Order: sequence, then structure tokens, then C-alpha cells
Amino acid sequence: MTANPGSGLKVFISNRDSRCEECGEDLGQRAWITLVDEGRALCLSCADLDHLVFLPAGDNALTRRARKRSRLSAVVLKWSRARKRYERQGLLVEEDALEQAEQECTTDAATREAKRARAAERRAELDDGYVVRFAARVRELYPHCPRGREKQIAEHACRKFSGRVGRSAAAKTLDERAVRLAVLAHVRHAETEYDDLLVRGWARQEARARVNDQVSTVLGEWRQGNLEKCPIR
Ligand SMILES: [Zn+2]
Repeated sequence: MTANPGSGLKVFISNRDSRCEECGEDLGQRAWITLVDEGRALCLSCADLDHLVFLPAGDNALTRRARKRSRLSAVVLKWSRARKRYERQGLLVEEDALEQAEQECTTDAATREAKRARAAERRAELDDGYVVRFAARVRELYPHCPRGREKQIAEHACRKFSGRVGRSAAAKTLDERAVRLAVLAHVRHAETEYDDLLVRGWARQEARARVNDQVSTVLGEWRQGNLEKCPIR
């Protein structure tokens, strides 16, 4: 009974130095990683899970609802040395799903308080200066991208680089490649059927190949304002 095919995904909070085997990035200690194909470690960006937000364990009703609403979700596990087993830390879910679940739970005062605390936590992760600079860079590189999108992309990138994935300095330099990759990932998730394909069980590489053409068309529009395709990477 897998109503949600994404529900089997697991994310591990590593307890030693990790490196992503796809992008090669040094993730540091306590990185959030996922394991594919016989234990290869991937960072959440490469695994396409970095658009999900973390819901700490503890509120069962909210967790159940958020999981049900979220097309993609992943259980977050951490190894307990004392107990010698993985322990559940919470769930990664789509932000919309969490918001809907929170709406459904708002009759309860304790849940409202928890919601406020989580919203504050999510805001605190964002370094305003960085978001503004990142957004300006997106707008500069993609002058025709829809209004407001640069802020959305920048906030997401900032959240991602602000420790959850264990990376900081490299990504914070705002080099062109980092910005382009953030825009590429956003276009894939927001402008194509990529997420649906993943939910339906497609392998990431096949799903990417399937939407590549669409992605490069959107990037071309955002960059040049015309329908000339823009090469990916
Ligand atoms: Zn990676």
C-alpha cells in the first residue's frame, strides 16, 4: 500500500566527512545525504531533494498530513551511537504540502505555536544580504525571467547553502556556475513535468533527459527573451 511512491526515500545525517559522488562537492561533517545504487552518497541537490523543507519529528498529526499532501517526501535518519541504530529525526516534505497540513491543523493552539516557531526558524536561515545579492545575479544573467522568480530562486539557494546541506563558503561566492545551477534546478522543478516523472518512478537521469529540451527552451526565453534554446550547463 504505497499511496505515495516517494515515501520510501531516506535521507541520512552523516556522522563523518562526506563527499557527493555526483558533483564531487565536499559536504563536510553532518551533511544531509541520500544513498543510491549500492551506497553511493549524493548531496540533496544532486538527488533533487533540495527543494524540500524539514519538518522535525514530534507532531504526529502534522507529519501524517504533510506526508499525505507531499508528492515527494523523505524520512530523515541519524545514527545513534548510544543505541546503535538509526533514529528518525523528521521528514523532508514539499513546502506547499507543509503549509496545507499546517492549515488543516490550525484548530489546535499548540500546533499554531509550533507553526510560528518553524516559520521563524525558516526565516532565520535566510541571510537577507545574500538573498538580495543572489537574486540580483539571477536577474542579471536571466533578464527575462518572470517577475519575482529571482527572489524565489535566491531564497531557496540561500536555505540550501546555509548549513542544512553542510556547505557554505564555496557556494556563497556567488559564482556564475552556482547561480546557473540554481536556476536550472528551479526550471526543472517549476516549469516541467520533472517532479511528476520522479513521483511516477522514473530514474533521475531518464527524467532529466526527457525534460532537457523543455528546460533549455525556458532558459533561452529567460536569458534572451526569445525561443532560441539555451544549452544546459
Ligand atoms: Zn552533489
